[in-house]
Amino acid sequence: MSQAQRRIRESAAVAPGEHAPTLPDPDKLAHARASLPDTTRTDYLCGRGPEATLDHLLDDIVPGLNGQNRSGRYWGFVTGSTLPIAEAADNIVSAYDQNVQVHLPSQTIATEVEDAALTMLLRLLRLGEPEQWEGRTFTTGATGSNILGLACGREAVITARVTNGSESVGELGLLRACVKAGIEEIQVLTSMGHSSLSKAASVVGLGRASVKLLPFSDAEPWCLDIDAVERELQRENVASIIAISAGEVNTGRFATAGLEDMKRLRRLADQYRAWIHVDGAFGVFARVLPEKEEYAPLLAATAGLELCDSLTIDGHKFLNVPYDNGIFFTRKASTLNDVFKNPNAAYLSSGAASTIQSPLNIGLENSRRFRALPVYAVLMSEGKQGMSRMMEKMVLTARAVARAIRSCGDEYVLLPDDESTASDENVHMVVLFRARDDGLNSVLVQRINEGNEWYVSGSSWDGKPAVRVAVSSWRADAEDAFDVVKKSLGAIARAYKESQE
Ligand SMILES: *Cc1c(COP(=O)(O)O)cnc(C)c1O
Repeated sequence: MSQAQRRIRESAAVAPGEHAPTLPDPDKLAHARASLPDTTRTDYLCGRGPEATLDHLLDDIVPGLNGQNRSGRYWGFVTGSTLPIAEAADNIVSAYDQNVQVHLPSQTIATEVEDAALTMLLRLLRLGEPEQWEGRTFTTGATGSNILGLACGREAVITARVTNGSESVGELGLLRACVKAGIEEIQVLTSMGHSSLSKAASVVGLGRASVKLLPFSDAEPWCLDIDAVERELQRENVASIIAISAGEVNTGRFATAGLEDMKRLRRLADQYRAWIHVDGAFGVFARVLPEKEEYAPLLAATAGLELCDSLTIDGHKFLNVPYDNGIFFTRKASTLNDVFKNPNAAYLSSGAASTIQSPLNIGLENSRRFRALPVYAVLMSEGKQGMSRMMEKMVLTARAVARAIRSCGDEYVLLPDDESTASDENVHMVVLFRARDDGLNSVLVQRINEGNEWYVSGSSWDGKPAVRVAVSSWRADAEDAFDVVKKSLGAIARAYKESQE
């Protein structure tokens, strides 16, 4: 097995300047599928031993995997990829298999590394001092983190309305707490909130129907209509959580325009006892871009996010650590504790008075992976400057893709089709576009992905199919992206025209 690491690395290696295919060869995918054990055979579960199994994994399964980490042009979803130092750290995580659930400072450094990583992130993202974010933890992703956010919001907006103020929803349960507080409805106010927000609303008992979209306009549906928020907050016997999309996953745009919007929302939330949750899964990283004019709109749009009550961040996207990795921040450790306390398990107590809480009392999981280590490693390795450069590279690559699309002439159109996409400055890391010809547009995603040079997601805009490019890999390369996209889109349009003649 000592050879295993070397063999894995060799199989996953990509030569400098090269791009791995975005999708597996269809034959290899079929072969991988056929190699899975046949449940009807009597020797179905006979052990093959580690050596034969490693051969099976590398020879049969691996060729059936996609290139999302290895390509640099896998621009589907928002997948991130894995920096080599993060992969190394993740191997240490497996090799040492720590269970990071109880803070045991005399027995392992793991919880302190986790806290150091969280504190470094606060500094990197200019969110304020660690004492202002006592509630902080790692979880599985932005979905998990949004669940934490809505759970904390639910806890806070209800207890604020219970007369003696000391009873927690975690203790009473949602129904009894709402009756005591005279609450008839809890609503989640947002604009183009990520789909996982509705999932989170369901999980924490608010219901998917509690998510209310308050778009500023048809032209800018990602923008939150703050006047509408104010009206909603005034409803009698209704408690509200304001969920800010920073940014929105189809367009990369932001729900708030900057500091003034956030200040106004903060005032409103305080006045009406509402909670502000920011879903900054990928968008919050725009705050690490260098202070250059070309990034001014992105820096402005992400200003003021630090005024929220809770914040979701994804590690496995822009931070380029392996799946799965999510981060959550909130103001008070006690809010997390009211919801996630794992009571009456004396054998799990750390017995230590410390600012670091046992993770099992402040998050969803009890047993947990040492997810913090790859984040710690990336931040140690790259520092502020390295992170800033990496973000810049991703934004420049998305802008190169947008320019390539514009340079194709009339065939394709950037979305939204208005002056905001006519220049680069609003392009963050997502590029949305479509073909003008409906016929070509209906097969565009398929044609691009078949080419196996770049990979995109299908989306929709204004009720019509659209193509979404999301750049989130450290391998992003603006010049290469421009050339590949321009050439590929030109060829696809020509081939389509010929097929119509
Ligand atoms: C990706 C994403 C999510 C969901 O995150 P997972 O890490 O897939 O759980 C939530 N919100 C936003 C804005 C996202 O981009």
